[in-house]
Amino acid sequence: MEDLRDKYEVVIGLEVHAQLKTKSKIFAPDGCEFGKEPNSETSPITLGMPGVLPVLNKEAVNMGILTGLALNCEIPERCKFDRKQYFYPDLPKGYQISQYDEPICVNGYLNVKGKKIGITRAHLEEDAGKLVHAGADGLAGSSYSLVDLNRAGTPLLEIVSEPDMRSSEEARNYMEELRNIVRYIGVCDGNLEEGSMRCDANISIMPKGSKEFGTRAEIKNVNSFSALQRAIEYEIDRQIEIVEEGGKVVQETRLWDDNARETKSMRGKEDAHDYRYFPEPDLMPLKISREWVEEIRAKMPELPQAKRERYMSLGLSEYDASVIVEQMGLALFFDEVLKLGASPKIAVNFIMGEIAAYLKETKLEINETKLTPENLVELISLIEKNTISNNIGKQIIVDMMKDGSKASEIVEKRGLSQISDTGAIKEIAQKVCDANPAQVSAYKNGKVQLLGFFVGQVMKETKGRANPKAVNEILKEILD
Ligand code: ADP
Ligand code: MG
Repeated sequence: MEDLRDKYEVVIGLEVHAQLKTKSKIFAPDGCEFGKEPNSETSPITLGMPGVLPVLNKEAVNMGILTGLALNCEIPERCKFDRKQYFYPDLPKGYQISQYDEPICVNGYLNVKGKKIGITRAHLEEDAGKLVHAGADGLAGSSYSLVDLNRAGTPLLEIVSEPDMRSSEEARNYMEELRNIVRYIGVCDGNLEEGSMRCDANISIMPKGSKEFGTRAEIKNVNSFSALQRAIEYEIDRQIEIVEEGGKVVQETRLWDDNARETKSMRGKEDAHDYRYFPEPDLMPLKISREWVEEIRAKMPELPQAKRERYMSLGLSEYDASVIVEQMGLALFFDEVLKLGASPKIAVNFIMGEIAAYLKETKLEINETKLTPENLVELISLIEKNTISNNIGKQIIVDMMKDGSKASEIVEKRGLSQISDTGAIKEIAQKVCDANPAQVSAYKNGKVQLLGFFVGQVMKETKGRANPKAVNEILKEILD
């Protein structure tokens, strides 16, 4: 397949649905909280009863504008809502209120690892309900499916990219950055597994150098970043095979099956006219004043790219900066620590080292541990003042995460403070040398790398509490 790949260029555009974290639904007063008892958040509006009227949720619009601004979009002065007709058991109205030709955001872009990916548009719409199929959790052994309409009417922002991506890796990078952004601006929790962020990948191939895009297939049902990449890779090979055999790729929607590691045809792809879009008669077009846009712009928090750059300007490597930004909880914690004036270098070593390892092991978020930014800063200051060594710091940080104790308390209780008293260190160093005459003469005969051995012995004697710099100096004094 590898050499065949060289003959073709891959074209990818993503449609990403982000569930907006509003308290209530986009056109109804029901709550949007996940995990409620099935069909408990179902007002007559959500159920699509005849004669009810939708009322637009302003918070959903605010979040749409904020996302648009974060994605460098224009926010037109006017947008409107349209009906998109479907028949589906989880859509009782028989149509979805969406935005067709006048969306809330247009003409944006995102810089992803140095490449500019165009964003055609982003529009507001309502989510459908959920079908719980025969045999699923809670329906074991059943031969029927049930409908849960709690999700119906949850606000979504659909973000449509230009067909600007050329590899599965670029698509994944774009999706990851988009996820970072919606999380940092607080509009979506960006959880692919739970479906609060969903991605349809449009993929086509064309002969290298061609100007004309091939026919695309749309892949649904990818619920992790790695699945997205796998699905795209599979689809590229599938399309190349068809074309190589003289066939034609058909425009269709395909479902990714991550267990079988393949896509399967779901349905022929509809064209816009199949949906019979028309302006929603129950909602006025929406005027968005420039003052409104500026009010929202003023609330824009620091975006992931700016955060990475700021961390790098503090001396973090690009890799460390990216890893911290990927984990929003850690980044916000790190920012608190920086605000309190701690040394970024030492803080990063703890965060990327012992703290990250503990979080990974326990599957906790940093704010689910008992470590506070203040306590980490205190620990760092003990290291900077040479009260304790870095090593002792690493030994006690886990306890600080577990029980919330302060570093100074642990140090005092366990007698861990660093021995910088040269007299005391000298005594121990002399003892170590006396106990190891063979190593001493070897050292004196030129085997200077044995210094590490002596340092290790002194550290062992002092249970890691001796100031390593002082130990080195004193040992050299004795041995040289
Ligand atoms: P629809 O709404 O019917 O899915 P759009 O024209 O809005 O169709 O396009 C949806 C997505 O498909 C966009 O992200 C776009 O970039 C992408 N796309 C369009 N044409 C192609 C193509 N030939 N190959 C890959 N992606 C494409
Ligand atoms: Mg589509």
